[in-house]
Amino acid sequence: MSTSTPTAFETRTVHAGREDFASLGVHAPPIDLSTTYPVADLDIGTASFDALVAGQATAANPIYARLHNPTVARVERALADLEGTEACVAYGSGMAALTALLGAMRLQGGRHVLVVRPLYGTSDHLLACGLTGLDAEFVQADEITGKIRGDTALVVIETPANPTLDLVDIRAVVAAAGNVPVVVDSTFATPVLQQPALLGARYVLHSATKFLGGHGDVIAGVLCCSEVDAAPLRQVRAATGGLLHPLGAYLLHRGLPTLALRVERAQANAMIIAERLARHPAVAKAFYPGLGTVRNSDLVKTQMRGPGCLIAFELHGGHAAAACVMASVRLMTPAVSLGSVDTLIQHPAGLTHRVLDEATRAATGITPGLLRLSVGIEHADDLWQDLSQALDAASSMLAKAA
Ligand code: PLP
Repeated sequence: MSTSTPTAFETRTVHAGREDFASLGVHAPPIDLSTTYPVADLDIGTASFDALVAGQATAANPIYARLHNPTVARVERALADLEGTEACVAYGSGMAALTALLGAMRLQGGRHVLVVRPLYGTSDHLLACGLTGLDAEFVQADEITGKIRGDTALVVIETPANPTLDLVDIRAVVAAAGNVPVVVDSTFATPVLQQPALLGARYVLHSATKFLGGHGDVIAGVLCCSEVDAAPLRQVRAATGGLLHPLGAYLLHRGLPTLALRVERAQANAMIIAERLARHPAVAKAFYPGLGTVRNSDLVKTQMRGPGCLIAFELHGGHAAAACVMASVRLMTPAVSLGSVDTLIQHPAGLTHRVLDEATRAATGITPGLLRLSVGIEHADDLWQDLSQALDAASSMLAKAA
């Protein structure tokens, strides 16, 4: 933004990435669906091609939409602004963003990656399965210093973690990693609640499918980082084609002006629901940073601006009780994903973290009786009425079976 005084975060959610509107004479972002761009001057075209393939953000001629698209570039500028980074590179999904980052590490000669569990099931799987040619070692956050090797390319953390809501100390991990870059998957926090780059993280990753998009209608992923680090990420995107489509970019940008409002409202609801869940007889334990019931809950005060909109809870009665709650909700949707305006409930062991082996799930607290709730912006009392009748249904089912 071109103001001389710092502009508040909420104002930036509304205006960021829209700086070119005055010159375009528009009030909503145009969607540029061109796949290719006329090359009127071959020398300019060749220089532009070279610049974009080398990972430069823009060039005199966009050349081809796999190399550059103005609608995508607009939402990238907005998200870099919100994360406090110089650059942002957008992809067709959060998994495409992580794949590109690992590809960039591999291109730069990296062989080894340190990963703190738990993290999203498919991220864990991608790192563990060997597809990227990198050797992933899963460690505890406090083991990082001793595990760094000469060929360690990256430290991967997710905080709050999916699905347990464990928090990881970003500053401590950055310090322990030394010269090795740290990527923080900050999907659960959003830049409203946490800006990892300002705490020293070299890369901030989002599944933008979640809160950033916010309406359950776009799959997208982004990496926010310095301009220097963005160049190899764009190179990998150009080479592998993991692009964000301009229509998706438009929708993502469309969701940003309400990001802070949505997160604040959903978080207020989550606090109410978490407190009620913790007192419900069907619930063995409610995991929510705002209740102080997750690993490193105190970090809410030092690296976040609030405990967020996700809750995990363990039911008495294991898998059968969890299945009953999923089948009994009427207002909430039993579905994977999170961060939408509406409330979603899902079973990590049976769905999002199914790709992990049972021992890994057990070691990270992903039990058969664990459900994850992504609280939306509906009225908290309506949400609680729906959830409590589903919990009561699970209690009755267990009582009958006993
Ligand atoms: N990171 C986290 C924390 C997630 O929850 C997810 C998806 O649920 C991803 C990454 C992957 O994102 P996408 O589904 O957009 O590929």
